[in-house]
Amino acid sequence: MELIILGSAAATPIENRNLPSIALRYKNQILLFDCGEDFQRRFAKAGLKFNKPMKIFITHFHGDHILGLPPFLFRLSLNDRTAPMMIFGPRNLFLYLYIHRKILGLKAKYPIKIVEIDHKNQKLIEFEGLDSEIPKRTIKINGNLIFETNYFSIKYALVEHSVITFAYAFIEKPRYGKFVPERARNLGIPESNLWKKLQEGQIIEFNGKLIDPVKEGIVGPERPGRKITYSGDLKPCKSLIDLGRDSDLLIHEATFAKALAETAEDKKHSTSIDAANDAKKMGAKQLILTHISARYQSDALILLEEAKEIFPNTILAEDLLKIELK
Ligand SMILES: [Zn+2]
Ligand SMILES: [Zn+2]
Repeated sequence: MELIILGSAAATPIENRNLPSIALRYKNQILLFDCGEDFQRRFAKAGLKFNKPMKIFITHFHGDHILGLPPFLFRLSLNDRTAPMMIFGPRNLFLYLYIHRKILGLKAKYPIKIVEIDHKNQKLIEFEGLDSEIPKRTIKINGNLIFETNYFSIKYALVEHSVITFAYAFIEKPRYGKFVPERARNLGIPESNLWKKLQEGQIIEFNGKLIDPVKEGIVGPERPGRKITYSGDLKPCKSLIDLGRDSDLLIHEATFAKALAETAEDKKHSTSIDAANDAKKMGAKQLILTHISARYQSDALILLEEAKEIFPNTILAEDLLKIELK
C-alpha cells in the first residue's frame, strides 16, 4: 500500500506544487482523492497505470479540487481504457460530467459509475455511464459508510468549508496473519485450494480432522487494518475528528501559517496549528500537511515547524512524495 501526493498546492499551482490530488495504490487498484487541474501529468510521472480499476473521491466543487477530472477522463477514453471506474462526490457531480459529455463529447466506453453523496437526505445517488441523466438507483447511507469491499471501506464526513465539502477515510479491514507454508507442508496439506483457505484464516477439514490455521501456527495472529484520513478543505470541526479517530495517517490541509489564523478562519481553511491539533485530538499516528498556499513558495518549512511543536510526527507534502504504509 503506497500513498503518493500528486498535488500539494492550494488554489494556485506553483512551479513545484500542483493542485490537490492524492493517489493510494492498494491491491492492483488506484484510489484517487481530488483531481486538481493537470494532475494527470503527475499521475503519469508517478508511474501510475491508466488502465487500473479506479475509485475517485472528490471532496468539493472548488476549481482547485475538480478541474482536472474531465481532462483525465478524456485521456482514459483516448487510451481505450477497459477497467472499471467509480467516482464519488457531492450532488451535481453527474451534471458536471454530463455537460462535458453533451458539449465536448466526453465518452466512457469502460464501465463507469458516478455516485453522488446526498448528505442532507442521507442517500447515495448512482448513475451508470455518462449518457442517461436518470439515476440508476438510490441507496440509503448506513452510518457514514459509502463504499465497501472485502478488504476496505470508505467513510465520509461533512466538514466545515465555504461550500458542501466532504472528508474521506480509507479503513482497511483486519488482515490475516503472515502465512508459514512450511507448517502446512509439515502437516501434509498439499498446495491446493486448501492453502488459500488457510491463508485467509479459515478452519479446514483435512483427513477427517479440523485444522485451525492460527492454532497450528500456519498463519500468524490477525493484524489490524490501516486507516488513512483526508481532510479536504476545512476549518477545524468535530466531524473530522470523529471520522479520523486513530488514523495511521492524516492528510490535512494547512493553507496558512499561524500568523494568518484570522484569514484562515474567514476563508474557512486551516492553519498548520489547526492541522496539528486535529491530528492530536483524533489520536493519529502521522500527519501530512498539504494544500499549501502559494505565498509560502520559498518558506513552506515554517508550516512544518509550527505543526511539529504540537504534533512531532508531521511531514510536509511535496509533489510526488511517496509513503509506504507498513
Ligand atoms: Zn482548495
Ligand atoms: Zn475549497
